[in-house]
Amino acid sequence: MKTQKQLFQRFELINQTGDVGDPLWAMRFILFRFLPFNLVKGMLRPGVDMPYWFATGLPLPLDPTYVDSYIKRISKSGFNIAMKHRTLEAKRNIMRMVVLLWIKEDPLQEFADRRLNYANYGCPILRKVGEKYLYEMPKVKKLELIAEGKKCDPACPTCGNPKYQ
Ligand SMILES: [Zn+2]
Repeated sequence: MKTQKQLFQRFELINQTGDVGDPLWAMRFILFRFLPFNLVKGMLRPGVDMPYWFATGLPLPLDPTYVDSYIKRISKSGFNIAMKHRTLEAKRNIMRMVVLLWIKEDPLQEFADRRLNYANYGCPILRKVGEKYLYEMPKVKKLELIAEGKKCDPACPTCGNPKYQ
């Protein structure tokens, strides 16, 4: 499990990078939620003050049980996103999962972060991570087909279209 100091160092590094792509953006999004307000206040967008910080339930507890429950939640929403074929959201969801696995120092991070393992709205990754974090893929025919790399419906224009992978 990473420490608050390690999270902050990573967060600072991303901020120094300037213009960041989607994976780093996802990392920034997750990291700052686990950091105390006084550490990140200089790097937040205008209007985000301490009352806002606490009102939104931040910072999140940096403990393994909480991170596990967060991973479980991401698996769950990932399957919902897959059902709705929201391709961009599906990718971002997996990116957030990669960050949480990094925080947990879980070897599955490598699997989840490999582009080769990303297909079908991230279902193969969601399934593998879900097995460990005790969240099973919902038993829905459409989802089972997608996870196997098949179309949810032979007429679906999105499934299997490389443009949406
Ligand atoms: Zn489909």
